[in-house]
Amino acid sequence: TRRKIVAGNWKMNGSVESVVELVKGLNACDTLDVVVAPSFVYLPLVAQQLVDSSIKLAAQNASEYNSGPYTGEVSLSMLQDFSVSHVILGHSERRALFAETDTQVAKKVAATLAAGLTPILCVGETLEQREVGTTLAVCNAQVDAVLNEIGVELFEQVVVAYEPVWAIGTGKSATSEQAQEVHKGIRDNIATQSAEIAEKIAILYGGSVKASNSAELFAQPDIDGALVGGASLDAKEFNSIIESAK
Ligand code: 13P
Repeated sequence: TRRKIVAGNWKMNGSVESVVELVKGLNACDTLDVVVAPSFVYLPLVAQQLVDSSIKLAAQNASEYNSGPYTGEVSLSMLQDFSVSHVILGHSERRALFAETDTQVAKKVAATLAAGLTPILCVGETLEQREVGTTLAVCNAQVDAVLNEIGVELFEQVVVAYEPVWAIGTGKSATSEQAQEVHKGIRDNIATQSAEIAEKIAILYGGSVKASNSAELFAQPDIDGALVGGASLDAKEFNSIIESAK
């Protein structure tokens, strides 16, 4: 059985004061991985707060380059300086608003693995794509871009997050059946290259996850946890989601 992961993507939210309060309110868990992803500028602060905690730290993005003239970018070695263990990559907001391509995302995943960190690779379809029936084709093309770059052996260390774009920040989660269908489709696609590795990979669901729908999502055989946005900004709500994953 796969170890579950509950990750909170705080996006561009918070202040020194609210971040400190939020972290104070979080419950760690021994039986699953709890991960939080603050904005870059709060990573040192949160890293310090989590020194004696099993809660893991993630960045929301990273540069594919090691160092140099890349104004405004943050390298993986910088993230390592602050005990970051996971990096969210290819989030739909980065793909849509900051024009990140499949190729760029694949390079970032490769760089993250080379640095010894765990990439959380986000994939997902828009409403239009779902309505014309291309959901699985879109998600698997996003996965394949990474598989082609790094190979299936290394892909074993990748965490996939299925985040239907239409379910993000809309309050409208995919049903557990809809999510399960896509998670299985993603796993089956990876299995065409290696059944063994496909079985091992954690596939998280993201998109309007909250305490009231998380248990049902986690009960699905191919849903191995969640990437939570809005609900991760409330410690009580996030703790309840963690509790439902136990
Ligand atoms: P919401 O949980 O706010 O819908 O956001 C999901 C998400 O984008 C997590 O990365």
